[in-house]
Amino acid sequence: MCDVCYRQTRCAEGRLIAGFNEGLSGGFVALHVDERGKTLDMCREVSDSGVCWIGDTSCAIGERRLGGVFVRAGS
Ligand SMILES: [Zn+2]
Repeated sequence: MCDVCYRQTRCAEGRLIAGFNEGLSGGFVALHVDERGKTLDMCREVSDSGVCWIGDTSCAIGERRLGGVFVRAGS
């Protein structure tokens, strides 16, 4: 997933989202972001389901085992 696509990631509501690690102990959380990448409120739906959208493609978003966040097409 390239940076350009990553910034197009949206939840089912059509809002831009980004994934984050919740803390050093791990845990994944998805936050709504604005067009500049500023984080807004939490997207509970994506945080729970790990399903996001890039265009019309459903994608999986989640926590990498070694830290960080992945997005991949096809859930
Ligand atoms: Zn949302």
